[in-house]
Amino acid sequence: MPQYTAPLRDMHFVLFDLLKVQDELKSLPRYADVDRETIEAVLEEGAKFASQVIQPLNQVGDREGCTWHGDGVVTAPPGFKEAYAQFVEAGWPSVSCDPDFGGQGLPAIVNNRLYEMWNSANQAWLMYPGLSHSAYECLHAFGTDEQKQVYLTKIVSGEWTGTMCLTEPHCGTDLGILKTKAEPNGDGSFALSGTKIFISAGEHDLAPNILHLVLARLPDAPAGTKGISLFLVPKFIPDASGQPGERNAIQAGSIEHKMGIHGNATCVINLDGARGWLIGEPHKGLAAMFVMMNSARLGVGMQSLGQAEAAHQNAVAYAKDRLQGRAPTGAAQPAKAADPIIVHPDVRRMLLTSRAYTEAGRAFTTWTALLIDREHAHPDPAVREEADELMALLTPVVKAFITDNAWETTTLCQQVFGGHGYIAEWGMDQFVRDSRINMIYEGTNGIQALDLLGRKVLMDGGKKFGRFATLIQAFLEEHAANAAMAEFTGPLAKLLADTVALTKDLGARAQANPDEVGAASVPYLRIIGHLAYAWMWARMAAVSLQHGGEGFYGTKLATARFYFAWLLPETAHQFRAARAGAATLMAIAADDF
Ligand SMILES: Cc1cc2nc3c(=O)[nH]c(=O)nc-3n(C[C@H](O)[C@H](O)[C@H](O)COP(=O)(O)OP(=O)(O)OC[C@H]3O[C@@H](n4cnc5c(N)ncnc54)[C@H](O)[C@@H]3O)c2cc1C
Repeated sequence: MPQYTAPLRDMHFVLFDLLKVQDELKSLPRYADVDRETIEAVLEEGAKFASQVIQPLNQVGDREGCTWHGDGVVTAPPGFKEAYAQFVEAGWPSVSCDPDFGGQGLPAIVNNRLYEMWNSANQAWLMYPGLSHSAYECLHAFGTDEQKQVYLTKIVSGEWTGTMCLTEPHCGTDLGILKTKAEPNGDGSFALSGTKIFISAGEHDLAPNILHLVLARLPDAPAGTKGISLFLVPKFIPDASGQPGERNAIQAGSIEHKMGIHGNATCVINLDGARGWLIGEPHKGLAAMFVMMNSARLGVGMQSLGQAEAAHQNAVAYAKDRLQGRAPTGAAQPAKAADPIIVHPDVRRMLLTSRAYTEAGRAFTTWTALLIDREHAHPDPAVREEADELMALLTPVVKAFITDNAWETTTLCQQVFGGHGYIAEWGMDQFVRDSRINMIYEGTNGIQALDLLGRKVLMDGGKKFGRFATLIQAFLEEHAANAAMAEFTGPLAKLLADTVALTKDLGARAQANPDEVGAASVPYLRIIGHLAYAWMWARMAAVSLQHGGEGFYGTKLATARFYFAWLLPETAHQFRAARAGAATLMAIAADDF
């Protein structure tokens, strides 16, 4: 059975050595009292919850799955409900929520690291409260005062959970064609009818009520995405005292049988005149839902980061234990029948690939969480604006780059186990199966890449990308005279210059032929992802050198060198692919495929 211990040492390195959050929080009035000791204490407790409560349920959840009882009732796997009760009792749902609604008001950097650990322990379980947190973000931004009092407080306490209901049988990526209808009831509420599919945590027995955030069309809605409104549709309509009252006409018609995340109920949700209330303005539902989607996209990146870390830990333990063959340079453990497989360069390639991607992902997501804290709490509007623009640019990168890398690295970690990696008992197949969905839902990774290149980079004339490039340029200038850093800053400077040139080049090509954006977008996202990771690794190397480059810091430096030698060179291929052009992709007529 896989084991997991939260990587607190590395989290502390990223938070306190690399990003120095203990200093920066002092400049954010809302968080000025949050000190290092508080953060360490919260993370330590969160780590216990991960390894002691939800990690032991991960394989059970995979094996047993959820059960649909034929009458719309769905039960989660054994132990899930009890673990959720403990989660709520401990106050975990409210960690980074607004104190005005019962939250603890801790910064996003804390919640972010907690989510990494809890995802490592049990992604399927965490999706129940994870979606609730995304619903929190949306209701907090767009809910009326009454909606906040009645519903938001229950989401913050964890008493009720939330869902996002977008997808329909004929409509996934293209939300403009969704059909679910919302007719006014004349009393301020609406009657919603339609079918939603693939709704995560759509029905379960963890909480006494579920708040569905549903996209639907009003009778006078214009066609396309400009005619979509967002509704709050509770499973039980709250009574006068705010407790679950009348059962609403929204039900789980079935649950899906799927490749992974078996512990999370993926539901067909039927709305049959269900009562709902508008969130935000009519026909502007997609903008409101985007708040939830952006939060969920960052959450999906954290899902994969968590999966990759857990798979890595187990692969390392196995590689130190499994005896096969001898080290090419001579026996490492002559007294034993064979050496542990960690002596073999190829096994190290697999372990270091997962290590380098995971540690860079941790640094990158902690830094982006700090941007969220700046965006919410910095007193200077210019700093808030910069953070907001960087987050807009980098959200698709967090979602797609991390999930693509985790798919590769969970597979490599499975490979370290040889045949045993394919046998269910060891649990390595579950990391591969569970992490696969992260590349698909919340907008496929192909759609994330289009969002990055088309909307975030080209549509604003490269302004957001320019902000990101400026930060990296400033780092390069700061370390220009540092000879010890040259092995990192040299390749980073070249990558930055090449990416600036490519961005201009693609802008010109896109004007000539819109297909060029779709053709170049996935390679472009890989390049931006590597630009971010190369910057993170160079920053981590600089800090490690400042700390003497021995012990923990020596291992960091070695991993940084591996990243630059083995993983960054992927960009050479991606630059060629990004410039290969649309013509070769579009040459074959659809009928000739
Ligand atoms: C386990 C699971 C849980 C889910 N949870 C939820 C949930 O909680 N709530 C919810 O609303 N939905 C949920 N989904 C739905 C999920 O978000 C969609 O499956 C996903 O967005 C893709 O939509 P689709 O499956 O209809 O694929 P399609 O939209 O049909 O896409 C098929 C392929 O075509 C590509 N494609 C489509 N359009 C374009 C385009 N314009 N340009 C380039 N390529 C394109 C896609 O990238 C993809 O590769 C879930 C799905 C699964 C499997």
